[in-house]
Amino acid sequence: MKRILLEVFLVAALIGAGVFGFMNQKQAASSKAKITELTAAVEAAEKSAKEKEESIKGAEEEMQALQGELATLEGKANQLEAVKAALASGSTLSDLENAYKKEKTLSAERQAGLGALRMLTKGAEDPSALEAFRKALQLSELGDRKNTICAAQLGLVAAGEKIKVMSDCLPKSDKAGHGDKEEKDGKDDGHAKKDDGHGKKDDGHGKKDDGHGKKDEKHAAPHWGYEGEMGPEKWGKEFPTCAKGKSQSPLDIKGPFVKSRMVISADYKEGPLKMLNNGHTIQVNIAPGSKLRVDGIAHELLQFHFHRPSEEKVDGKPMAMVVHFVHKSAEGKLAVLGVLLKEGNENPGIKTLWANLPKEESVEYAPDGVNFNPGNLLPREFDFYSYEGSLTTPPCTEGVRFFILKSTVNIAKEQVQAFPFKMNARPVQALNGRELLTN
Ligand SMILES: [Zn+2]
Repeated sequence: MKRILLEVFLVAALIGAGVFGFMNQKQAASSKAKITELTAAVEAAEKSAKEKEESIKGAEEEMQALQGELATLEGKANQLEAVKAALASGSTLSDLENAYKKEKTLSAERQAGLGALRMLTKGAEDPSALEAFRKALQLSELGDRKNTICAAQLGLVAAGEKIKVMSDCLPKSDKAGHGDKEEKDGKDDGHAKKDDGHGKKDDGHGKKDDGHGKKDEKHAAPHWGYEGEMGPEKWGKEFPTCAKGKSQSPLDIKGPFVKSRMVISADYKEGPLKMLNNGHTIQVNIAPGSKLRVDGIAHELLQFHFHRPSEEKVDGKPMAMVVHFVHKSAEGKLAVLGVLLKEGNENPGIKTLWANLPKEESVEYAPDGVNFNPGNLLPREFDFYSYEGSLTTPPCTEGVRFFILKSTVNIAKEQVQAFPFKMNARPVQALNGRELLTN
């Protein structure tokens, strides 16, 4: 319990502290002042964590709650002596590092927490603190983890790194035209995931397709989309890997191919349907237990989502849509299985999904009593093309192994048209000498 609490308050502290740090950056606050502020935030978060101790069921749930509460606790940080003493001795840091040594990979939240504590203990110049924040950022870039991305980005900025911070992470005073609900700095960071309808608009890229663009302009600009000023050509401004990376996805798949001996198999399980419209696609979140095996190594299925048209082309031709099944191994290696959807007969699996599309953006929707087996979207044959690539959405993180199945699966024209995003496919990227494998 003690460790859970420690992690919880560290992460919550980092998020609050990152906001503090960023705001004061402009007045060129000394790193000593920053450390004091960070310490204050730690104290505030710790207090809150203790109050909540009895109701903790898991570190992540608690973390979300704390992130929200932190904003209201920021003003009360006066009694810091105990925390300062513990940090000055460095014992808290070494305890945590020892605890973590046994684990091969740390979650993004733990990395962010480690970075925060290192910064508090050893100052803003500690290279290991920066490294921890960077790792947290890399790890959190996949999927719906805006809070941790913000934490890591603000942590790096507070440490004096010149990186671009997503507009969604900035304190609200730095943005124009916000309503009174958003007065308190940091409040949105804690609530971004479960937002009541404000955050929705921040991520509302798809909305423009539906003619709701004007409403969006009152809110913060979305940081990326699929056309115009936010389109793929501009992603590199805010997310450098998208422009500078040399192993980017998607690809136009065409020979010459290299023979692969890799063996893959999917073992997907039925589970309660949980859907999310994240503003860029429809995503189905998967409970633990469904796996893709690559040469016997299990990769846990995290989520699958759709692109229209297919991002991958085969011999220059796109398909109507593609499903990307996103997996992660215990070592943290990402693997994406792509199933191309070809216009044809109705797809019964898609029928179930489309019948349960979320009505709100950025809120996970779990319809009562509806189960789904992701295996229903797979073809029988598992012959594949494979290459080393990247996430196809910002921040375009590399080190992702792609398997695109040669067999396609049908989808009716009406089903394609019913997908809420008219176009959400990144253009194909340069091969840059990568090997294209096939089995
Ligand atoms: Zn995708």
